[in-house]
Amino acid sequence: MNYPEFVKVAPELGLDRLFDYGIPQRLRGRIQLGQRLRVPWGKRSIMAYAVEFPLRPEVEQVKDVEEVAGEKPLIPSGLCQLARWMADYYACDLGAALRTILPGPVRSHEGGGKMAWWISPVPGREEMAKEILRGAKAQEKAWLHLLGCGGGWQTVLVKESGAGTAVWRALVDRGLAERSEKRLVRGEEAAEGGWPGSETRPELGKEQTEAMLAWEEERQREGGGRPILLEGVTGSGKTEIYLRAMEQVLGEGKNVIILVPEISLTPQTVARFRGRLVGRKIRLSVLHSGQTVAERRESWHEIREGRARVVIGARSALFAPLENLGLIVVDEEHDGGYKQAEAPRYQARDLAVVRGRTEGAPVILGSATPCLESGWNADRDKYRRVRLTQRVDGAKLPKVHIVDLRKEDKPSGGGPILLSEELVTALKSRREKGEQSLVLLNRRGYAPSVQCPHCGKVEECDRCAVPMTYHRIDGKLRCHFCDADRASPVRCRECGSPVLKYTGAGTERLEEGVTEIMPGVRLTRMDSDSMKARGAHAKALTEFREGRTDILLGTQMIAKGLHFPNVTCVGVVGIDGALNLPDFRASERVFQLLVQVAGRAGRGEVAGEVFVQTYTPFHPAIQFARHHDVDGFREQELEYRKAHGYPPFRRAILLSFSGSSEAQTLASAEHVVKKLRLAWGDKVEVPDPCPAPIARVEGRFRFHVFLLVDRGVPILGDLKREVLAPKWPSGLKVSVDVDPQDLL
Ligand code: ADP
Ligand code: ZN
Ligand code: ZN
Repeated sequence: MNYPEFVKVAPELGLDRLFDYGIPQRLRGRIQLGQRLRVPWGKRSIMAYAVEFPLRPEVEQVKDVEEVAGEKPLIPSGLCQLARWMADYYACDLGAALRTILPGPVRSHEGGGKMAWWISPVPGREEMAKEILRGAKAQEKAWLHLLGCGGGWQTVLVKESGAGTAVWRALVDRGLAERSEKRLVRGEEAAEGGWPGSETRPELGKEQTEAMLAWEEERQREGGGRPILLEGVTGSGKTEIYLRAMEQVLGEGKNVIILVPEISLTPQTVARFRGRLVGRKIRLSVLHSGQTVAERRESWHEIREGRARVVIGARSALFAPLENLGLIVVDEEHDGGYKQAEAPRYQARDLAVVRGRTEGAPVILGSATPCLESGWNADRDKYRRVRLTQRVDGAKLPKVHIVDLRKEDKPSGGGPILLSEELVTALKSRREKGEQSLVLLNRRGYAPSVQCPHCGKVEECDRCAVPMTYHRIDGKLRCHFCDADRASPVRCRECGSPVLKYTGAGTERLEEGVTEIMPGVRLTRMDSDSMKARGAHAKALTEFREGRTDILLGTQMIAKGLHFPNVTCVGVVGIDGALNLPDFRASERVFQLLVQVAGRAGRGEVAGEVFVQTYTPFHPAIQFARHHDVDGFREQELEYRKAHGYPPFRRAILLSFSGSSEAQTLASAEHVVKKLRLAWGDKVEVPDPCPAPIARVEGRFRFHVFLLVDRGVPILGDLKREVLAPKWPSGLKVSVDVDPQDLL
C-alpha cells in the first residue's frame, strides 16, 4: 500500500497557516486526518493537526514529523474534510474553519490530565429507590434525572438537574448511585442496553408510517441516501419521526446529531429527546451558548470519547466530534439561526447535508415551511420530499382571517392602529372562555421612531444610520443595531419644538394597548428586553402552559416551536414593514413567520383562528399563508426568483466593505470591483458598489457589492485573491458572504 509521504499541518496555537512536513518511514500509515502530531519548529517542537496529504510539499526542504500523539485523531477525519469543504465553499481560510470545528477550550486543553467525577445509577435499584427516597424531594428528582440520562459528569448533572453536589453525594451514600473518578479524555465507552425504555411511544399514524418507510428506503441506499425533506404542518408529528429514526439508529450502534434553531427557546424539544432515552443508558449531550468554557470542553471530550451518543444543540452542534454517524436531523430547517453571521459564514443546514454525504449518514430536514432552496431541491429530486399533511388527532389547521387595515377607522388620537376591532373582539371572547391567545409583533420597544412634527427630524443613532427606538420602560432611546442609548429628548434637538411624535408601535406599546382595552388581563410580554433575566423565558412559558397567563405577546420568540393546546387565537400585528425590506427573501420570511405562528393556534380540541392585520391584504405571502399553501407559495416565489436570477437559480455572494472613512471605503470597494471585472470578463456581472441599506453602523460607513453568479462558475479563488488576501488599509473591514441571509 502507498502511504502518504507528506502532510500539511495546522499548528495548534495558530491554525491559520499551514506547513508541510515529511512523514518518516516508521510513521507511514499511522497518520490520519485530524491527528495531533509533534513536529519540529525551529529549535523546539510543537503540536499540530494533520489537515491534508499533499502529493508533494510546496517547499523544497521539509522536516519530518517527530511523533503521533494519541491513537485516534483528535478531530474525526470526517470533520477535517468538512473543514476543507467549508474553506473552499465559503471562501474562508482553513484555519477559521478548523477553529470552528475545534473550539478554543478544546484546543488549549491537552486532555488526558484532568480527572472528574462520573456518576451513574446502580442498576436494579429502581424499586428500592422509591422506598428510600420517600419524602426526599430533591434526591428523588436527581435520581429520576440520573435514570433518564444513564449517567454523567457530576458538574454537568448539577447544572442540568439543579440538584447540588450534596444531593448527589446523598444518592451515592444511599447506594443508589455510583461515583467514580474518571479522566476527562480516554474514558471507557458508556454501557448500553439493559433497561427497557419507559417513555410511551404513540402508535404512528398513516402518514407517519409512510414517512418511516421512506426513511427506511433512503437510508438503505449507498452513502445514506438522499436527504429527506420532511414537510409537515405544525403539529403533524415530525418530532415523532425524528425520535423513531434516532431510536433505530442508536439500536444499530450509530450516533445522532439533532440541530434545533435556538436551544434556549426549545426546552420542550430537548425534554422529548431525553424522555425517549430514559432507561437506555445512552447519554445525550446538550450543547448551548450558555455553557462555560469548562463545560464546553467536557461536553466535547465526552462526545469525542463516545460517551455521549446523541448530541442536540444549535448550529455549531453540527461540528460535534461524533464518529459513526447514523443520523443528522435539522429541525425547523428554514430558521435563520442556522446561518452564522461571522466568518466562517456557514449555513448549518447546508453543511449538515455535506457532512451527511461525507460520512454516509442520512439527513432529515424538517419544517412546516421549508426554505425555498430546500423545496427546490426536493422538486428536482435531489432531496426526497415526505409530507405530513394532517395534524395528529385530526386537529384542524386554524382559520386565517386577513384584516384589511385600510378599512379600519383611524384612532382618534391619530396614532397607529394597533388592534383592529376584529382582533380585539376575538381576544376578549377567547379570554372569557378561558382560552389563551398569542399576539405577535416583531418589534421590541415602545415606538420604532421619534419624530419632530414641526421640522420633521427623526431621532437617529449618532453612530448608525437608523432611527432610534423609544423604550418607555426606562425612558430611553435605543439603537437596535449598536445598542447605544440616550435619554429621550424633551424637545427636538434640531428646532427646539417641545412636542415629539412617537411613531409606530413595538411590543411595549402594544402591551399598553391591550391592557387598556382588556382591563385585568393577565398578559406576559416576551421579547429580548423583558426576557433578559436568567430563567425568565422558561418561567414565562411555564406560567403560560399552566394557564396563569391569558395572553402571550411578543416578538418572533413566541412563534418558535411551542406547543400549547389551549391556545386558540393568534393575532399578527405590524408585518407590513417586514414585507417592504430591501431583501429578496422578505416575502419568504413573512410567509414562514405567518404559517409558523398560525400553527400555534388550535393544537388542542378547540379549533383555532388567526388574525393577520395588514395594509396589503393581497400580497402573495399573506394570501398563500392564509391557505397554508406552501406549494403555491413556492411555485410563485420560484418564478419571481427565476425572473430576477436570484437564488436558488444563481448563487448570491455579498461583498461588504466598512470603514470609518467613507471615501476610503468606497474607493476600496471600487478597486475590488475593477479587479473582479478584469478577472471575470462577462462570466459574472459585477455591479458598482452601493451604500448598504443601512449605510452606517457604529460609526462605520458600509458599502455592498451584491453578486449573482451562475452555478458552476468558479469564482471563489478570485474572491480570495482580490478581496480577502490584499492588505487593506488598517480599520477597513472586507468580507465575503456566500449565500448571505442578511442583506441589510
Ligand atoms: P411537529 O413536530 O410536527 O410539530 P410533534 O411531533 O410535536 O409535531 O407532534 C405534536 C403532538 O402530537 C405531540 O404532543 C406528540 O407527542 C403527539 N404525537 C405525535 N405523533 C403522534 C401519534 N402518532 N399519535 C399520538 N400522538 C402523537
Ligand atoms: Zn424639530
Ligand atoms: Zn447605533
